Amino acid sequence: MMIHTLAEYQKQLLAKKISSLELTQFFLDKMAQHNALNSFITVCAETAKAQAIHADELRAQGKAGPLTGLPFAHKDIFCTRGIKTTCGSKMLDNFIAPYSATVTEKLDDAGMVLLGKTNMDEFAMGSSNENSFYGVVHNPWDTRCVPGGSSGGSAAAVASRIVPAASGTDTGGSIRQPAAFCGITGLKPTYGRISRYGMIAFASSLDQAGPMTQTAEDAALLLNAMAGFDVRDSTSLNVPVPDYTATLNDSLQGLRIGIVPSFFGDGLNSEIGAAIDNAKSVLEKLGAQCVEIELPHHELAIPTYYVVASAECSSNLARYDGVRYGYRAAQPVDLMDLYKRSRSEAFGQEVKRRIMMGTYVLSSGYYDAYYLKAQKARRLISEDFKAAFKNVDVILSPTTPDVAFKIAEKTHDPVKMYLSDIYTIAVNLAGLPAINIPCGFSGQLPIGMQLIGNHLTEARLLNIAHQFQQHSDHHQKVPMMESSS
Ligand code: GLN
Repeated sequence: MMIHTLAEYQKQLLAKKISSLELTQFFLDKMAQHNALNSFITVCAETAKAQAIHADELRAQGKAGPLTGLPFAHKDIFCTRGIKTTCGSKMLDNFIAPYSATVTEKLDDAGMVLLGKTNMDEFAMGSSNENSFYGVVHNPWDTRCVPGGSSGGSAAAVASRIVPAASGTDTGGSIRQPAAFCGITGLKPTYGRISRYGMIAFASSLDQAGPMTQTAEDAALLLNAMAGFDVRDSTSLNVPVPDYTATLNDSLQGLRIGIVPSFFGDGLNSEIGAAIDNAKSVLEKLGAQCVEIELPHHELAIPTYYVVASAECSSNLARYDGVRYGYRAAQPVDLMDLYKRSRSEAFGQEVKRRIMMGTYVLSSGYYDAYYLKAQKARRLISEDFKAAFKNVDVILSPTTPDVAFKIAEKTHDPVKMYLSDIYTIAVNLAGLPAINIPCGFSGQLPIGMQLIGNHLTEARLLNIAHQFQQHSDHHQKVPMMESSS
């Protein structure tokens, strides 16, 4: 099966077998051809071609860096100067970002070509991409299914190979869960590893950007350019960025992998359990050993997250008032009417639900009972991981309890939808890095597994994922719709 990774296109550019302009046109054509997936909100055809021409000039002058001329897509949550940035919301449908996010600038400075902005759940709230103002995205493996969310457009676009790589953001699982549903690699780095400046805020203590790619090697290439300290983000970590590609081939001899037996109970699709068992033996053959561990407070993760994330979103989304920028209701009678109607006309149902929950848990009288209690539970969840990492190097778990579900299957039951993130959410509460890697199929739908590491162990996670991918081929499978190209 053909696989066209960033690393391979990088070699072709280097050998001058292809130009960035040719590559860019190739992907723009594919994006048009597979428009029906609805993975893009904005296609940047003209600016992309201009960037590609510039990249080719730099290469001709001997000034190309490792990523120069490689095309990719941004989740539409990253501000891109002069380009519409919607965050999947009617509220920002008319918003042309006046500045770029740090991540946008960094990839731009690295010479990458921005093909377009991908579809997503409104303000990154969701697990199925069904909350987008721009409509649902289809899973390329079965178009009746969701691609996962909130980075569903990025996941579907990478899986169908209509872009070689994309960015995503992960507040409770939004990189890893869609990566699992679409059969790609998705890394959520340590909180603070990548700047949040210019990345539209959902829940600021949890949000983190990361790469969504076909392989761990590509994720390493992108992370090299995305990571780093930023004075404009007060939670950004001021620690050096290693070359994440340098350790991809390190040995796994002696690696201690933690397994949480309760993760593999009744709530898990048994085919996912079996695929992870197979993956475990692959890793054991490479020198790893598995150790049983416990995370006693893990069951608190979902309720804790929905208190903390909703509280933070209710505060972050207060800025959309119909006055400063974004949607404004027509002919308001007074200021209160302007606020009320702008917000009620432009926010979708899920966003409103979160704002209401968040306002409630922060209100005086309920603050101690909910918000404060959730902060305490958050601490316990972090302490569990801290204790576990005394005995193991990484934790191997499912990414999702089931494979991609049907469109509209869970839209009427928010709690059922929230449970999609049962294996990913605790990681954000603890600020840890974690990666999804494809590890099998259930029928035609991909299965993902998750490796969770201690703070700032992205290099090790990428190393393990890369070694696994050197000894498996799940990540090379391409959905039928693309197999003829
Ligand atoms: N599905 C979770 C939510 O709806 C996580 C979303 C995310 O990571 N952005 O909040």
